[in-house]
Amino acid sequence: MMNYLELKEQKQQLIEGKSQYGAAIVCIRVNVPGEQKKFAWSEKIHRHASLKFEELFLNQAIKFQRIEEEFCNLFYEYISFYRVKSEPISVKRLTIQLESDEEIGRLLDIDVYDFKGNSISRDEFDIPDRQCYLCSEPAFICGRTRKHSIQELHQFMILKAEMLEDK
Ligand SMILES: [Zn+2]
Repeated sequence: MMNYLELKEQKQQLIEGKSQYGAAIVCIRVNVPGEQKKFAWSEKIHRHASLKFEELFLNQAIKFQRIEEEFCNLFYEYISFYRVKSEPISVKRLTIQLESDEEIGRLLDIDVYDFKGNSISRDEFDIPDRQCYLCSEPAFICGRTRKHSIQELHQFMILKAEMLEDK
């Protein structure tokens, strides 16, 4: 297993390799707590999220291109990468909209990078911290204090996945 810093470095290289002048890179992941991230339900949530993303950007008439496999062996989780022909800031604004989606928004981590591979932070927008799946605390606090067990969090996600229609 690579350590956290090696993994971060690898990820940065991966993003830079996909970058292109005039385009933003979008990376969609399901926020699965714990080491094991490959489940039928996480795949279903990921597939649904990618379709929602494509729908939203098609509706906005923003050009995008999908550039990665469903399952990423490097990070051992479901990831989709898109190259989007638009301003990274406005792309980020749209992905935040997706993250506030009632069905699955809170289960997703969507990162947006500019053509140099710099990540666009949520802090640049005036929006509240993301809420925990299970209680009303900000998610980062429950994550830090490990307030909920991995099983509890997975159970919530499994229920969410079951409610999604099959596409
Ligand atoms: Zn909580």
